[in-house]
Amino acid sequence: MLKVFIPNNHQPERKYTLSILFEKLLNINLSVETYEDNQQSIIQLPNGKKIHLLDDFFSKQKDSYLELENIPERPVFLINDLTSENNLPVLWGKNSIEINNDSIHIKADIIASAFYFLSRWEETVADKKDALGRFPDEQAFLIKHNLNMRPLVNEYAYFLMNCLEKLGYNQPTKSRHYTLIPTHDVDKFSRLDSFSKAIKVVAGDVIKRKNIRLALSTFKNYIGIKKGTQKDPFDNFEYLMSLADKANTKALFFFIPGKLGENDVYYNISNEKVQQSIALILSKGHSVGIHPSMDSFLNKEQLSQEIDRLSQCGVKVSSGRQHYLRYQLPETWEIWESLNLTDNYGMSYHNTPGFRCGIANSFPAFNVKTKQVLNLNLHPTIIMEQALFKHCPSLNDFKETCRQLKNTCKKYNGEFVFLWHPENINLPEWKAYKEILESLYH
Ligand SMILES: [Zn+2]
Repeated sequence: MLKVFIPNNHQPERKYTLSILFEKLLNINLSVETYEDNQQSIIQLPNGKKIHLLDDFFSKQKDSYLELENIPERPVFLINDLTSENNLPVLWGKNSIEINNDSIHIKADIIASAFYFLSRWEETVADKKDALGRFPDEQAFLIKHNLNMRPLVNEYAYFLMNCLEKLGYNQPTKSRHYTLIPTHDVDKFSRLDSFSKAIKVVAGDVIKRKNIRLALSTFKNYIGIKKGTQKDPFDNFEYLMSLADKANTKALFFFIPGKLGENDVYYNISNEKVQQSIALILSKGHSVGIHPSMDSFLNKEQLSQEIDRLSQCGVKVSSGRQHYLRYQLPETWEIWESLNLTDNYGMSYHNTPGFRCGIANSFPAFNVKTKQVLNLNLHPTIIMEQALFKHCPSLNDFKETCRQLKNTCKKYNGEFVFLWHPENINLPEWKAYKEILESLYH
């Protein structure tokens, strides 16, 4: 147990961040008290030694800090021997640390910086949105400063643990384990389930892909599906479940509970074949969650209706990800919580790989408007195959980025959540990536 003394302002924010850094990431229990000092937080070890953490943000703010101008232009890099990388970037404070026998004084504001990434308040104050109303990747502080490949909050926790050990902290801590979580948004269910669809694909093979052999094989595939001897190219549920089984983990499949004719909906959730696939996934011990449709991200009534539709398929709906990663924060999270959804996998960049929340683990969401911790766990998605493809068109860069991010998650005993759409696996342009997909499971 560590005693922590915090300044008497912005307590919900400070307590939330300390609980993630120490209790979640380091498995160290805290007792937090407030005191009348606005300059620093103090962590007191059982042996009486102390870590002083400079407060360079919250104590300077009035009640609300939710202003775009509060975001600094560039990071400050703390450089010393106790960090896991060559430097430790923060948003506030300075590059200064003093190490004595019975105390360490850290002048970089780690608490406010960790809170910035975890709470996503930069998204709430952003003045630019993309065409779908989403927070654009290029507005993210981590992307602007090329830090998206680093889980900085994990680095902060690692650094704080080293500081504790330097001062003689030697209590046993439970260690966390690396977890692999493959997730699959089912945007489309079948490619060749009707003659008209098959003809369109064949025409695409000839005109767009200029490949007559491919066109013939598509048509043969269509005949095989009709006879029941072949599978639809989008039907990769068993393949993905077998990969997850071999890696001793569970695959999560998120279905759009829509009806044909609704915005960006390509299958009926009530279709018999869709229902059979859902039943198969559940019978094999894997999970089914919700992929709420395009228009649901600010519409509680619609999301509620979609949850009902998926529940009618025998699914206990608790987890998922918004289609097109369409979020407005904190409103979309509030709607999820109010409908008793508990696990959200949507915190992923749209066009870039890496850590959108600066962390490689799941953690509870914080509502910056009500200053409350939400009953909603966020599981940041580190790789989405389509985003990575836009970022790294070369197969080798794609492969290397996957390897790097997976190893980073392993290094910090994180949760490696990736998203791979089942419908892409057998498409001609994605075939070469199948080997990379399989490498993610090792
Ligand atoms: Zn989707």
